[in-house]
Amino acid sequence: MSSSVYFTDFRCRNKTSLPVKLEMLLKRSGLDDLDLEGKFVAIKIHFGEAGNLAFLRHQYAAVLVSHLKARGAKPFLTDCNTLYVGSRTNALDHLDTANLNGYLPQTVGAQIIIADGLKGSDEVAVSIPDNQYCKAPKIGRALRDADVIVSLTHFKGHEATGFGGCLKNLGMGGGSRAGKMEMHSEEKPQVIESRCICCRLCSKVCAHSAQSFDTGHCVIDYSKCVGCGRCLTACPKDAIVAGPDADNNILNFKIAEYTKAVLLDKQSFHIAIANAISPLCDCYGCNDAPITPDIGMFASSDPVALDKACVDAVNAQSFFENSALGEAEHRTHDHFTDLHPATNWKSALEHAQKIGLGTEDYKLISLDL
Ligand code: SF4
Ligand code: SF4
Repeated sequence: MSSSVYFTDFRCRNKTSLPVKLEMLLKRSGLDDLDLEGKFVAIKIHFGEAGNLAFLRHQYAAVLVSHLKARGAKPFLTDCNTLYVGSRTNALDHLDTANLNGYLPQTVGAQIIIADGLKGSDEVAVSIPDNQYCKAPKIGRALRDADVIVSLTHFKGHEATGFGGCLKNLGMGGGSRAGKMEMHSEEKPQVIESRCICCRLCSKVCAHSAQSFDTGHCVIDYSKCVGCGRCLTACPKDAIVAGPDADNNILNFKIAEYTKAVLLDKQSFHIAIANAISPLCDCYGCNDAPITPDIGMFASSDPVALDKACVDAVNAQSFFENSALGEAEHRTHDHFTDLHPATNWKSALEHAQKIGLGTEDYKLISLDL
């Protein structure tokens, strides 16, 4: 059976503002079918890296917060800390960055909680024995504690997954720092000796006594290390880093399995805004020119259908010559594959469908708002 994906474009023919159009989309697309009264609702969003300007404006989140509060819910905005070094690796820097990018309780009407805590170690291992790759995904605690998950996603390109959509926002974004290491990396963490000051903080969080310091810096004994990633969150010098990147298909599969863990046993709903469709994710401290024109706003209770509808909509657009896609070799006429030839976004949706997250078979319901 197909899933419904509701859509409205960015035209304001009747002088209706985009926030009002989003509010009308929310009213018509099934969000109100959820039991929201008194529920803690986690709005999973990406606040944008400092220097990036492609991330979603806070006004979209404010509309969603207002909509949820009017239905008796207790919404909060949330994301987990990043694995890589940047402006969102711990909760304080992350909140500073969110504030810098316009996300404040005063502007969005709700509190902001960094889901995996101060150093990215506040996580819940969600047991899913049937998962093929990640049997116990490590999810930010505030996301797991929420009663309802609503994702609000900026749809754009991504260098490792082809496009960055709803599954990426939920799965990768919902993983704690150790969870992100599990998704990104094929192997156990590594020590960058030149950064190590031999403070031994990493050994305090290691349950397997895998570190030694005889050489004047941390050395990991891989016969003891189980790859939990905890030491990575404890190191004050970013001297412990994830191992080599996983194959992009495996990364896609793991993201789907993490998404399943984020949504497990919860009500959920998903919104995607396809504007400023940049070639890379919002995790960079910059953003290249958009690859296609802005498209519109999408909403669905099915995260797989939502991503498929968005990727199809982008692929139906002509591309901008003066963009990374304009400079790419056009071999497949699939914008995201042409843009990032080493990626395979189809494998993410196929695995997500296989593990029961939703269906690629969707019905687009276009609303003239
Ligand atoms: S990844 Fe986990 S088990 Fe391995 S050294 Fe770090 S804390 Fe210890
Ligand atoms: S916490 Fe970091 S800096 Fe301190 S000993 Fe471990 S690896 Fe070295």
